[in-house]
Amino acid sequence: MFNPRIYLLLLVFFLSSAASFSQDEDIFGITRKARAPKSQSSLGNAFRSIQEMFSFQLATGAAQYSMGTEFYRGDGKVYPITQYQNHEFGYVPLPDTLALSTRQWILPTVEAGLRLNLFNLLTLGGGYGWEKGVLQPFEGGGYQFSLQGPNYTATNYHASAGLVLYDASRRRFLLKQRYKKFNRAIPDLKMRMEREYKQRIRQNYPWSISVEAEVGKVNVNQAVPQVPKVYQPRLAEVQDQYTYAAALRVSYDLSEYASVFVKAKYMQRSFVNDSPDFTPFPMDQQAYALQTGLSIKVPGTKRCKINGCGVVMKHNHDGVEYRGSSIFNFQNRKIGQWY
Ligand SMILES: [Zn+2]
Repeated sequence: MFNPRIYLLLLVFFLSSAASFSQDEDIFGITRKARAPKSQSSLGNAFRSIQEMFSFQLATGAAQYSMGTEFYRGDGKVYPITQYQNHEFGYVPLPDTLALSTRQWILPTVEAGLRLNLFNLLTLGGGYGWEKGVLQPFEGGGYQFSLQGPNYTATNYHASAGLVLYDASRRRFLLKQRYKKFNRAIPDLKMRMEREYKQRIRQNYPWSISVEAEVGKVNVNQAVPQVPKVYQPRLAEVQDQYTYAAALRVSYDLSEYASVFVKAKYMQRSFVNDSPDFTPFPMDQQAYALQTGLSIKVPGTKRCKINGCGVVMKHNHDGVEYRGSSIFNFQNRKIGQWY
């Protein structure tokens, strides 16, 4: 099906960012050669360069979940099950097993985290989340199984690893391939294409698409029941149980340091009904989440605070590089790009 050449090509495609990393030009076509240090000391400079690889993430959104369970009546206890259909047929004894499910909303979801960018190719992250979900009765076979309602809150923490599928450096790689074929064209065409290539490669490309895998744990926050004697079916996390998620993330750069993103996520989690009234049973949840967020890098380059220095681009004072613009603006804007 796939021949080795395609694998090799894909590999080169993904490593293209690593290659461009060593080139003499950065994303905006500005030379990297003999770049001024970001600090007076070399240790400080190294620290500031590493610092720029990290970004803070803040996201919020909503999710829809479906939760299902195979209920087994085995131990003969009393369950909070009511029949809500087929009333006209009178009382029907409860079957031994029932497939029950519910589909509800989680709103809002909030996520905060830290993300490490490795050569615009891989990402590593970790974070903390909070959510508020609606909890409605399970339904199945004409029966309803009441859960503690009408909602719950839960927190979670997770670690993630991601692969950047497409971004400015991948685009540069593809452009280079596309214009290579004009190398042997007639001189007139070759010159025209070279000009076009140079113009396109200097364009600022703000989009980036990546996939991420997440592993985490969830903790359900139970409110203390106000009337302890009353039946309280309780949603709880399964002890020592991991949650899994896969996400597609599309990000748009506002500047070198700030970007906004949209994340679509599929999650798989397990809960348990831990009411003291009966044997706990598992409840498996699948959730589809959509989140929008903001990502901010702590800039390694300090903002220039020298009075009367109105330089907007990155510039040097005493051999150290300074920023002339806020982190929400591109630093090396050219004439006509100031606003
Ligand atoms: Zn300055």
